[in-house]
Amino acid sequence: MFARVALIGMGLIGSSMALAMRRAGLAGEIVGAARSAATRDTALRLRLADAMFAEAAEAARGADLVVLATPIGAFGAIAAEIGEVLEAGAIVTDVGSVKGMVLRDVAPHLPLNVHLVPGHPVAGTEHSGPEAGFAELFENRWCILTPPDDAEAAAVDKVAELWRRMGAKVEIMPAQHHDLVLAITSHVPHLIAYNIVGTASDLETVTQSEVIKFSAGGFRDFTRIAASDPTMWRDVFLNNKEAVLEMLGRFVEDLTALQRAIRWGEGETLFDLFTHTRAIRRSIV
Ligand code: NAD
Repeated sequence: MFARVALIGMGLIGSSMALAMRRAGLAGEIVGAARSAATRDTALRLRLADAMFAEAAEAARGADLVVLATPIGAFGAIAAEIGEVLEAGAIVTDVGSVKGMVLRDVAPHLPLNVHLVPGHPVAGTEHSGPEAGFAELFENRWCILTPPDDAEAAAVDKVAELWRRMGAKVEIMPAQHHDLVLAITSHVPHLIAYNIVGTASDLETVTQSEVIKFSAGGFRDFTRIAASDPTMWRDVFLNNKEAVLEMLGRFVEDLTALQRAIRWGEGETLFDLFTHTRAIRRSIV
C-alpha cells in the first residue's frame, strides 16, 4: 500500500501501528523517529522498524506516508521539520486525541502538494512506550478521520483503507465535532479520574494506605485511567480547551443537581438516573 512509512514517535500507538502494518503487509519499509536512544534501540530490537532516526526529518525523507504519533504538543515543531523534506504527493496523517489543533499547528507547515488527513484511533490502554504496542490494538475499534474541506478524496480513501486493513472501522467527521464528542466520551472522564484519585490522596481524615488497602471496584477503575501518560493528557487538555470546558460545565451542573438530591433525600431522582445510566452501559457492551 505504501513504499515507505515513517512513524514519528514510537510509543503505544506508533509501535502498535508498526506491528499491525507489518502483519497485514501494508508497507514496503517502516522507519521511525524517536528522540531517545533507548527507544530507538528497543524499536529495532522488537523489529518495529527497519531503521530508526533521532530526527523526524530523516525518517520522513522519501516517505509516501508520515504518521505523527507523539504527544500532540510536539506536532507543530515536527511538522515544521518534516515540511522541508516531504516529497510531492506524500500523505501526512496523525493519531492525536484532539483534531482541531492539527489543522492549526500542522497544516501551515506542509507544502501545498502534500496531503494532510488527520486521524484518531479510538483505542488505547493506560500503558505507554514502544514495548506497550500490540498488533491487535485497533481491531474492531473506531478510527475517526477529520480531513479538511479541501482534502483530496483519493488521499482520504487511502488512509481510511490503511485503518481498515489494520482492523479498525472508519468514520469521517469535521475536526470541531470530533473534539466535542471526545471531550465527553474521553477527555472529561480522564479529568474526573485524575481528580478523584488526587482528592483521595489528599485527605486528612483517611490515610493514603487506607485508600490503597480498601480500594474498592469504583476507585480501582479510576486509578487505572488516572495512570495514563501525563504528557499526553496534559497536551489533550491544553489543546481541547473549549470543548472540555463546555462539557465540564454540563458535568458540574449535573453533579450539583445530584448533590442537592442527596442533601434533600430525593431517592427517586437518584434511582431514575441510575436506571437510565445502566441502560446506556447495556447498549455499549
Ligand atoms: P506514548 O507516550 O506511548 O508514546 C509517545 C512517543 O512519542 C514516545 O516514544 C515519546 O518518546 C515520543 N516523543 C515525544 N515527543 C517527541 C518528539 N518531539 N519527537 C519524537 N518523538 C517524540 O504515547 P501514545 O499513547 O502512543 O500516544 C501518542 C499519540 O497518540 C498522542 O498524540 C495521543 O494523543 C494519541 N493517542 C493515544 C491513545 C492512548 O490511549 N494512549 C489513544 C489514541 C490516540
